[in-house]
Amino acid sequence: MAENRDPYEVLGVSKDASAAEIKKAYRKLSKKYHPDLNKEPGAEQKFKEVNEAYEILSDPQKKAQYDQYGSTGGQQGFGGGAGGFGGFNDFGGAGGFEDIFSSFFGGGSSSRSRNAPRQGRDLQYEMTLTFEEAVFGKKTSIEYTRNAVCKTCGGSGAKKGTSVDTCSKCNGTGVIQVARQTPLGRVMTQQECDVCHGKGKIIKEKCATCDGEGITREKHQVEVSIPAGVEDGNQMRLQGQGEAGENGGPYGDLYIVFNVKPSKIFERKGSEIYFDLPITFVQATLGDEVKVKTVHGDVEMKIPAGTQTETTFRLRGKGAPKLRSDGNGDQHVTVKVQTPKNLNLKQKEALKAFAEASGEHVTGEESFFEKLKKRKKR
Ligand SMILES: [Zn+2]
Ligand SMILES: [Zn+2]
Repeated sequence: MAENRDPYEVLGVSKDASAAEIKKAYRKLSKKYHPDLNKEPGAEQKFKEVNEAYEILSDPQKKAQYDQYGSTGGQQGFGGGAGGFGGFNDFGGAGGFEDIFSSFFGGGSSSRSRNAPRQGRDLQYEMTLTFEEAVFGKKTSIEYTRNAVCKTCGGSGAKKGTSVDTCSKCNGTGVIQVARQTPLGRVMTQQECDVCHGKGKIIKEKCATCDGEGITREKHQVEVSIPAGVEDGNQMRLQGQGEAGENGGPYGDLYIVFNVKPSKIFERKGSEIYFDLPITFVQATLGDEVKVKTVHGDVEMKIPAGTQTETTFRLRGKGAPKLRSDGNGDQHVTVKVQTPKNLNLKQKEALKAFAEASGEHVTGEESFFEKLKKRKKR
């Protein structure tokens, strides 16, 4: 790359050359050194330099920066000495920067932004869902009260058929300059226009529906389609369903916040569902085929012989739908082997026989009465 070659020199133009002259010189030289047309050694290098020079001089910002600092920040990076960040302020004069700013902020001055269109407030709506509604989604309709553009006058605040005039005192800005006498002398300050009360407009005959405000409170109904797989605390944004904007600005948004009720039998994390399955120690020992509840209905599940308590089995695709992709999560079934309680005599004998067959000697717990009998005998 050509190190810091003067772009004016490269294009052969003077420092005060017009944009048209720069363009003309560039066309001539780029044609002269174009690698397809010029096979001389060094032509390609020249062609590159010409393009780099034109890139700077055809761009008002880069040109201004080069004129000021002798380099451009864009080519040297932000650390590149005087050509870096510090140059920014100077672009205002070159025409680029400040113009962009004023189009964003309506002139930037407080007197104009006061009556600039402003987006309405966002609203929040809390919606309670059952566990199943959150898993499978739901179509519903909600109703709430919000500030809306008056339907009678369309937001102008004027009675039908009458006009709205720009306030002549403040020229529609809503503010006026007032001279104030202070110990330090006369000081000019801005204050709200006393004729239009800061609105910048004069409504001769007010709309009766909104009393000239242009905005009314209305009951608003929205159809809401809740996607399958939402979770507690998730938010859903409905654009433009908030409150009406000011000065013709757009509506705010509505945020629906979901409050999901827990399930008595399932636990859920994202698209994964967790479920505890109590089984008897006989089922765990001998194995069995059982029915397991899932949000999609009962599912047959095999318990292998010799299953230990707390073993988890996975039922693929039986979890909740994935919120931002296809398919379902899984259901995780954790078996809880139940130790039998309050056995009758027959059951106790069967177990003792089982222990004996296993070569195990189990005394068993003596009941309160059995202990009492033993003590009396002594
Ligand atoms: Zn006014
Ligand atoms: Zn109205």
